[in-house]
Amino acid sequence: MRSDLSVRNLVVNYGPVRALHGVSFDVPAGQVAALVGSNGAGKSTVLKSICGLLKPVEGEIRVGDEVLQPRPGDPLRHGVALSPEGRRLFGQLSVEENLIMGSYAVRDKAARREMMDRVYGYFPRLKERRRQMAGSLSGGEQQMCSIGRALMALPRVLLLDEPSLGIAPIIVSELAVIIEEISRDMSMTVLLVEQNAQMALSIAASGVVLETGNVVLTGTGRELLESPEVRAAYLGT
Ligand code: ATP
Repeated sequence: MRSDLSVRNLVVNYGPVRALHGVSFDVPAGQVAALVGSNGAGKSTVLKSICGLLKPVEGEIRVGDEVLQPRPGDPLRHGVALSPEGRRLFGQLSVEENLIMGSYAVRDKAARREMMDRVYGYFPRLKERRRQMAGSLSGGEQQMCSIGRALMALPRVLLLDEPSLGIAPIIVSELAVIIEEISRDMSMTVLLVEQNAQMALSIAASGVVLETGNVVLTGTGRELLESPEVRAAYLGT
């Protein structure tokens, strides 16, 4: 299967502390892949590296055949968009203004409008609240707005950092269904980074389990959900 995002032998240090010890994995084109692991496993470090915010000591990240340069801006140029942990919306701007901010680098107005319609289709609550300030939305709605803003960049690869964090379980299930739909409808490659392994693995075609900066398990979402190690360590069963 063709890989869209490829992480090869990634080694990252914070000063003298090594956070990633040679992490490699592939995200197949047009599918959802889950990157799971507990607190401090290195998930955010992987994402920051993909986004060009950290300079790896070793290793390489590719989108298709292109090697990403470790500087902010380069990943976006190659079609990588991030919905960051904690949403990071512009709280004083309206929902719609936040969405528009996501497409600042997109020249094609028709494509922008089409994506905004799609975003409102996936998240009708955002449409209802499009003139409302993003800071006044509920946590779940803010998460929807953050995913919508990332989609507005018309990405080839969508990175979602902990979309379930701090959100009511019922909304998490709703979001999971929509993330799966987004990937399926638009053949979008999605890397879903989650502490909520149940949610992530249940919608992911493939998954990677990270522990203390190392990949310890890979498999299909279902294989990992059923694996005794994952069940014991991440699913509390
Ligand atoms: P979380 O779910 O809490 O975000 P994570 O899996 O994303 O966890 P990282 O934040 O990538 O984990 O952290 C990986 C390791 O790197 C941890 O041991 C963490 O303490 C360390 N670390 C992260 N950021 C820094 C930093 N700025 N300076 C020093 N060490 C850091």
